[in-house]
Amino acid sequence: MQNTHLVKRRVIGVDISNDRTSFAIVDVRGNIIAQNHFPTDDYKDLNHFVSKLTEEILMLAEANGGYETIRSIGVSCPSASVVSGCIENAANLPWKGLVPLEAMLRDRLGIAVAVGNDAHTSGLGEHMYGSAHGMKNFIVVSLGVGLGSCFFSEGREHLGMKGYGGEVGHTCLVDHGRKCACGKEGCLEAYVAANGIVQTAQELMAESDQPSLMRDAKELSPRIIKEFCDQGDELAIETFRRTGYLLGIGLANYASLVSPEAIILTGGIVHAEQWLIDHVRDSFESHVFGNIRGKVRLLVSDLNDGEREILGSCALAWEVPEYSLFK
Ligand SMILES: [Zn+2]
Repeated sequence: MQNTHLVKRRVIGVDISNDRTSFAIVDVRGNIIAQNHFPTDDYKDLNHFVSKLTEEILMLAEANGGYETIRSIGVSCPSASVVSGCIENAANLPWKGLVPLEAMLRDRLGIAVAVGNDAHTSGLGEHMYGSAHGMKNFIVVSLGVGLGSCFFSEGREHLGMKGYGGEVGHTCLVDHGRKCACGKEGCLEAYVAANGIVQTAQELMAESDQPSLMRDAKELSPRIIKEFCDQGDELAIETFRRTGYLLGIGLANYASLVSPEAIILTGGIVHAEQWLIDHVRDSFESHVFGNIRGKVRLLVSDLNDGEREILGSCALAWEVPEYSLFK
């Protein structure tokens, strides 16, 4: 006989990125019980993608304690709004325009689903399971292909009217500056996310004849530039110094508005470690509003890559009110 009073103590977190869709069953303590993934770009048709994801979620749940033990599902995806439940004009995903992913998954899966953008869910993940645990006012900045961010005020995330609160990556740093992927010019993201760092390296190489390992590299990425820093390459070191200086200005402006107790940096680029972070700190302290100078902690997330995205979407899953077609 079905137990209608079963307390559901597990959720499923889904992380959609342009190349891979990962999903996992996670318990109330944040333990990952089981996980799997498939290539996102094999499913350029939206209906095929939703069918594949639904099928995979059901299989994983059935193989690990049963679908009836799952409370809800949280989905993290670039350009998604938790307010509309839609992916809205994602630049790097195969599905264009407005994609009502939350409604599509809820219809097929029959339980509560919440969809939010990756910046928002990484904030939730840091708050529930990571470096921001116990904090009320903090900023999370994710540095990778893009620059995502969200901030919490008095213990709640600030979503804004449309669910995009905290988009510091697309605030203007340089008037008529570099072209940004969003279509504007001079955005912070265009200088400090992955492509921006590579562009800075190319500009530095063009400015002088100084020898550099970067000149002979087949391709450049923040990871490769960091390796050259470790080998003492001066232009590589200068690349991260400039990046850190500009990021420090962006974060100082952000902190001066929000007055957080901490800024938590996450994402692939934080692996540049001291080559970047020390310069961010120096620039931050010299640009931030005087009354909060020395009082905002700049932290690097202690959640692992891969784990962070899943835990963030699970934190979102716990926020959505429970609902089931099967009761
Ligand atoms: Zn932009």
